[in-house]
Amino acid sequence: MEITNRRDAGPDPMECKKPRNVDVCNCSYEPCPRKGVCCDCLAYHLRSRELPACCFPDAAERTYDRSFAHFARLVSANKI
Ligand code: SF4
Repeated sequence: MEITNRRDAGPDPMECKKPRNVDVCNCSYEPCPRKGVCCDCLAYHLRSRELPACCFPDAAERTYDRSFAHFARLVSANKI
């Protein structure tokens, strides 16, 4: 059966998951407007050759050094 009405198709798989994402986000920078909007968060950090908070263990995340270099150092040290 072809579904012609989105309301009949259940939850939209592409709807924003911000409320759920915020619950599991480990970012300690509370005023950030991108918190839970992972697509914007990733794009923002990639523009600066960085990764989002969730790529770092909590102690490393709290340094706010989200650079590729910091991530690579942690991987090299088997801390990720
Ligand atoms: S990782 Fe960066 S962009 Fe993402 S919520 Fe934290 S401060 Fe905001």
